[in-house]
Amino acid sequence: MRADRVEVINTGRELLLGTTINTNLALIARHLFPHGLRIERNVSVPDDRTIWTSLEEALGRADLVILSGGLGPTLDDLTRDAVAEVLGVELRDDEAVWEQIGAYFQKRGLTLRESARRQAAIPAGAEVLRNGRGTAPGFWIAGDLLTKHRARGLLVLPGPPRELEPMLLEASGRFSAVGLGEQRYQTKSLFFGRTGESEVMAQLEPKLADLDLQEIAYCAHAGCTELRVRGPLGSIEQTIAHAQKVFPKSLVSTEQERPHENVLRRLRERGETVAFAESCTGGAIASTLTDLPGSSEVFGMSWVTYSNEAKARLLGVDEEVLATKGAVSEEVARAMCEGALHASGADHTVAVTGIAGPGGGTAEKPVGTVWIGLASSEGVTEAHRFVFATDRLTFKKLVTTYAFDLLRGRLASAS
Ligand code: AMP
Ligand code: MG
Repeated sequence: MRADRVEVINTGRELLLGTTINTNLALIARHLFPHGLRIERNVSVPDDRTIWTSLEEALGRADLVILSGGLGPTLDDLTRDAVAEVLGVELRDDEAVWEQIGAYFQKRGLTLRESARRQAAIPAGAEVLRNGRGTAPGFWIAGDLLTKHRARGLLVLPGPPRELEPMLLEASGRFSAVGLGEQRYQTKSLFFGRTGESEVMAQLEPKLADLDLQEIAYCAHAGCTELRVRGPLGSIEQTIAHAQKVFPKSLVSTEQERPHENVLRRLRERGETVAFAESCTGGAIASTLTDLPGSSEVFGMSWVTYSNEAKARLLGVDEEVLATKGAVSEEVARAMCEGALHASGADHTVAVTGIAGPGGGTAEKPVGTVWIGLASSEGVTEAHRFVFATDRLTFKKLVTTYAFDLLRGRLASAS
């Protein structure tokens, strides 16, 4: 079957000056994928007549065109004019939209300026998409307005990502009515902790190649690998069953969970808590957990003990041990997580101590050496050594994912 062609046009001079990263492209790509739609071509254009030419071209080549940005109230916001002119329709003031904009300003005690009226101008025949997080509405255009073009759908969305995303999700429900996308298939991402992508592929590929899957993709993240599959439900279930058999310990879960998400869910289910004692990650582990809603149920406190003095004073690590074994040692990792266990009263603790580099390495403890310790109110303390010779930021991400994944393994084997 021929796949639908999708083209995305992102407008905004800031995208081409390098001051704003085009995250809308990634958002759009991710939300199209579950519909079986993939972007074939993308263009970023400045706020000028290039919008007209790129829209004209895209409508002639693609089945679905998505256009983002340029719907604001200022004079450089030209998208409405471009859409109306290219489609050969006029812009009409939409009273209902104008009232919604008025209500938005009133609710926030803001002054409504006449320039905002530009946002209530809608190309005749377009379906208005409400913006729940801002003032600029979007449009969905299909049917008669597109008869002169190849495209069966044109979706126009505002630039701010937090406004665009919910509108895109809502609008994507209209794709199937004009025959866009492939609804029979499902997608699933599986995460494998502490396992590289070539290892995941080598072990799974022989079997996956035999399944009826439209897409098999591997994506390496710091400390875990994502396998994304798309196909009929039965084939996805077979993929999961096979992954469970081949990687009983590394497969994070049958849901689309990363290690820290799995840790949060397991702790919530058990009604247990965790605390961290971080040195080389500088708080990244606590920060990662608290990115998730619901983390307050399982997390009450944490320590960033970067210096030896802090490790001794706050966590009770023996100064003698620090002096003789060094801060990056099994003994200190064990003492840190046990100290945090005692001081926090949490059910589980994880401690990390390592050498992020670029300086500070020795022959015995090269740059990238890290010890990760785990302690629990019930159960033995354990400590693991790894060497991640890389840049500081990647090092912190790797240590963070490994810390969560080790805790995930501990919680899984205890249940
Ligand atoms: P606009 O819809 O042109 O008024 O866009 C408003 C704001 O949204 C801009 O100032 C940008 O910061 C942001 N924005 C626009 N397009 C993008 C994009 N493709 N990716 C990320 N942010 C964007
Ligand atoms: Mg703009």
